[in-house]
Amino acid sequence: CKQGSRNSYRFFNPEMQLRSVRQVQMENALRKALEREQLRLFYQPQISLTTGKVVGIEALIRWQHPEFGLVSPMEFIPLAEESGLILPIGEWVLVTAIQQMKNWLDQGIAPMTIAVNLSAVQLREKNIAQIVRQLLEEANLPAEYLELELTETAAMSEPEKAIELLDELHSLGVSIAIDDFGTGYSSFAYLTRFKINKLKIDQSFVRRIGTHTEAEVIIDSIISLTQSLNLKTVAEGVETEEHLNFLREKGCGEVQGYYFSKPKPAEEIENWLREYIK
Ligand code: C2E
Ligand code: CA
Ligand code: CA
Ligand code: CA
Repeated sequence: CKQGSRNSYRFFNPEMQLRSVRQVQMENALRKALEREQLRLFYQPQISLTTGKVVGIEALIRWQHPEFGLVSPMEFIPLAEESGLILPIGEWVLVTAIQQMKNWLDQGIAPMTIAVNLSAVQLREKNIAQIVRQLLEEANLPAEYLELELTETAAMSEPEKAIELLDELHSLGVSIAIDDFGTGYSSFAYLTRFKINKLKIDQSFVRRIGTHTEAEVIIDSIISLTQSLNLKTVAEGVETEEHLNFLREKGCGEVQGYYFSKPKPAEEIENWLREYIK
């Protein structure tokens, strides 16, 4: 059996065809998701380990489709990126999150930042900084309340462009977090040239606290790194007391995870906030 014929069989693999039909159907459905108001944002709090206060809230997108059900962003964000739909969807996320933050500010719910995920595709958009500036202006929200999360991989894929963009965003006054830190490749030299405020320790490391020494060593070194670069650290995926104690002992500044709250709709997170503050 030759290599070549194995490859041609793979091409006709019915399972693969099925998967791509689902993808095509989903992409078509995603095109209509915005106008049909099937997209929503959920919110998850970020807690300071030094003060115990809620210092931020991350906005996470959800897609509720009548047939597909609740589709994970892990599945539909890549589709949105391939099709370019991420641009209007990403803008909707920004508008919605900014409005929500403004609303919370007006209600006097403790000042904090709202963190919004930006896709690598949005970063390549020429005028993304202008879009952000305009949306903040329209909503009358001071830039310091907005934090943008971009993944390590997105930032490092075209580092010179990222430096320029981060400079622009920094001068607007928004803060920047590098998401999924430790999973990609980072150069120390670039890290110091990026105008960033925070590194988010990826949950794959946090999950292994207590069972995998290598993960603990990595977390420890990321925290030391952020301290020497004068950055903040957020650990994501914090689920247990053990995770929390380890992170506190190592000097991690902020935590986020199911231990405190799952991502929830706005009204539910408001209730959670009121309860937490009490
Ligand atoms: P991410 O930005 O790394 O977000 C963290 C993910 O971990 C979220 O999954 C969150 O719900 C989940 N999570 C939070 N705490 C815990 C925990 O304690 N344990 C576990 N097991 N998981 C936890 P989600 O909401 O499904 O989002 C998945 C990914 O989709 C995000 O990863 C992000 O890359 C992407 N995403 C979500 N919303 C947006 C968006 O508005 N725009 C873009 N471009 N990407 C988004
Ligand atoms: Ca994120
Ligand atoms: Ca992350
Ligand atoms: Ca992630």
